[in-house]
Amino acid sequence: MEVDPQQAFEEILSSEKYLERLSSMASRGAEAFTLDFEDVLSYSFELARSLVDKPDEALKHASNAAMQRLRVASPGYADQVKGITVRVSQLPEVTPIREIGAKHIGKLVMVEGIVVRSTPVQPLVVVAAFRCRACGEVTRVPQEGEFLRQPYRCQNPDCRRSGCFDFVESESEYVDSQSLRIQELPEELPPGQIPTSLDLKAVGSDLRDAARPGDHVKVVGIVRASSTFMPKGGSPRTLKIHVDVNNIVPVSREPESLNISPEEEAKIKELAKDPWIHRKLIQSIAPSMYGNEHIKEACLYLLFGGVPKKLPDINVRGDLNVLIVGDPSTFKSQLLRYVVSVAPRGIYTSGRGTTAAGLTASVVRTEKEGVTLEAGAMVLADRGVVAIDELEKMRPEDRVAIHTAMEQQVVPVAKAGIVATLNARTAVLAAANPQFGRYEPRRTVIENINLPVTILSRFDLIFVLRDVPDKEADAKVSRHVLGLHRTRGASVQPPIDQELLRKYIAYARNITPVLTPEAEERLHEFYLKMREASSDGSMAITLRQLESLIRIAEARARAALRAEVTAEDAEAAIQIMNRSLQDVGIDLATMKVDVDNILTGKPKSMRDKLMVLLDVIVELQKETGLVEVKAVLDEAERRGIPASECERLIAQLKREGAVYEPREGYLKKT
Ligand SMILES: [Zn+2]
Repeated sequence: MEVDPQQAFEEILSSEKYLERLSSMASRGAEAFTLDFEDVLSYSFELARSLVDKPDEALKHASNAAMQRLRVASPGYADQVKGITVRVSQLPEVTPIREIGAKHIGKLVMVEGIVVRSTPVQPLVVVAAFRCRACGEVTRVPQEGEFLRQPYRCQNPDCRRSGCFDFVESESEYVDSQSLRIQELPEELPPGQIPTSLDLKAVGSDLRDAARPGDHVKVVGIVRASSTFMPKGGSPRTLKIHVDVNNIVPVSREPESLNISPEEEAKIKELAKDPWIHRKLIQSIAPSMYGNEHIKEACLYLLFGGVPKKLPDINVRGDLNVLIVGDPSTFKSQLLRYVVSVAPRGIYTSGRGTTAAGLTASVVRTEKEGVTLEAGAMVLADRGVVAIDELEKMRPEDRVAIHTAMEQQVVPVAKAGIVATLNARTAVLAAANPQFGRYEPRRTVIENINLPVTILSRFDLIFVLRDVPDKEADAKVSRHVLGLHRTRGASVQPPIDQELLRKYIAYARNITPVLTPEAEERLHEFYLKMREASSDGSMAITLRQLESLIRIAEARARAALRAEVTAEDAEAAIQIMNRSLQDVGIDLATMKVDVDNILTGKPKSMRDKLMVLLDVIVELQKETGLVEVKAVLDEAERRGIPASECERLIAQLKREGAVYEPREGYLKKT
C-alpha cells in the first residue's frame, strides 16, 4: 500500500519528543530542527530508504510535515517562519571519504573526518532581485546552483524585455553559508597514503561555525556534482563532487580506545605486570635501528605523555616535546616515522609542512572561495603526536605561531577577518639538522641549530645525535645491519609488535597517575640541587624543567599502567633529563651548570655587553625618541665596547627582536 510520505512524516513527528522539539524552536527563534533517523527507520524501512536515495524530495515532505506540526505546537511562531529546515541526526553507516563517487550523487550520506579548512560565513543569495534598465521594474528570481541566474524577461507587462538587468543587492534575500573541507582521520589513513578530502557547503544560520579547522566531525549531507567553471555554450562532462551539508555532528577528540578486544586488554594487562616492561617497550620502538636507547626511551615517554592539569589560572600541558638534533646520515627520519606509526593518532610532516597550511594554520586566499582558514599539521594532530622533520626549515609564519602552539597548545588566528583559536593539544617530536652541515661539538646547541632560543626552550628534552667514527660502535652497528639482512628481520623481532604497541599506548593514555610523596620528594631534591648549583647569577634550571620532570615521570608510570608515580619513575625522569642536559652541554658530574650560556648561545661577557648596549639605547631613547645608530656607537665606546663589536651586537639585538630599525640609521627598543 502506497503511503503518502508527508503524512508518514507527520505521524512520526506527532510524538511527544518532536512536539517538544518543535515548540522549543519558537523560544530559540530557530528555523531548523533535527529528525532522528532511527525513528524514520523504525516507522518504515521504505520511508527511510527514500530519505537516503531521494533526499531532496523526502526532506521536502519532512519539512512540510514539520510545518504542519509547528502550526499545532506553536501557531504564532508558525506564521512568522518561512519554512523549516529538517536536519537528519545521524545515519547508521559512515561512508569512507575515499569511496564517495559517482554512485552517491544525489544521495544522502554520512561521512566522518577532520575539518581542514573553512571560509568565513558568507551570504548566499537565495532570492535575487534584478532591476530592468529600461523600465526600472524589479523582478525576483529564486536561486539554485552555483551561478546567479537572471530573469528571462522583465515582469512588467508593458515592458517584457529580456535585458539588461542590474542586480539589486539590498532587495535580494540571503542566508549564511560557509565552505568547509574535511579530510580522512589521520588514524584511519592507510600507511603511506595521502589523505583524501571532500568539500562541503553548509547553508543556514544554525550551521554557522558549527565546525572549525581541526574539529573531528560526522557530516550528514547530499552528494552533489557541479562544474567548477561555466564554459560558453555547454557543460563540462567531468564534474566536481561536493556535499551539501544537512547536519554536522561534532565527535569528541578524546584518545580513542582503538577497538581493543577483551583478549587484547588481557594481554596488555599481562604485559604491564612484567617488571621489565619499560625495557620491552623501548626495545619495541624502531627495533631495526641500532642503539640510541636513550632517544628511544624519550620517544616512549612522548608516546604515553603526562597528565594535563587545569589550574585556576593556567593550563599545564601534559604532552612532552622532544627535539633530536643530528648529523644528516643518522636515523632521525626513520625514528620519526616509526613513532608516528605506533601513536594512536600521529602525523608526520616536514618543517616546511606538506600543505599550504604548514605546521600551525594559515589564512589563504583562493580565487573561487576567497579567504579560507586552513589547519596545519599540529592542529590536525590534536590529541596525538606530530613528528616534524627538518624543523629548522619551518616557514616564518610558523616560527611565530609555534610558540603558543607548543606551550598553550592552541593556534590563535586573527587575519583577513578570520578570528579563531584552534586546538593543537599535541606532543611534538622534532628533528633538526645542524646549520653547518655537521654538528660542531665546540659550538653550543644554539649555534648548531638555526632556531631561536624561545622555540628550543619549549622542548622538554633535547638530544644530539652525532655520526662520529668509533671503531667499537661501528662494528656493532655493522653486525646488527648484516644480521638483519641475513635473518630477513627475524633477529630484530620486537618484544611487542607494532599493532599491539599502538593499542597498549592508547589504553595506557586513559590512566591518570598521581605523584606519590616519595616521587615528589625525589624531584624536589633534584630541583633544589640544580638551583643551588646555578645560583651564581647565570640563571639555569627553571620551573620549566621541573614541569618536564613531572611529565616524564607520569608518562613512565602510565607505561606500566600504574596510577601512581613512584620514586623509581622520578629517578628515571631525572636520568633522562640529565642525559639531555649533557647533550646540550651541561656537565652534571661537576655540576657546572650554565644554561644561560647553553640555552642562549652567548658567553656571559657578551651577554653583559648586550645588556649595556640595551641600556644605552633605552637611555638615549628617553631623550630623543628615535635613537641614531651613531649616537649608540659613541656612547657604547665610552663604556668600553669598541664600535666594530658594537655593530655586531646591534645586529644580534635586531635578530633577537629586542630592537628594530624604524628608519634607516635609527634604532628603537621594542
Ligand atoms: Zn522592464
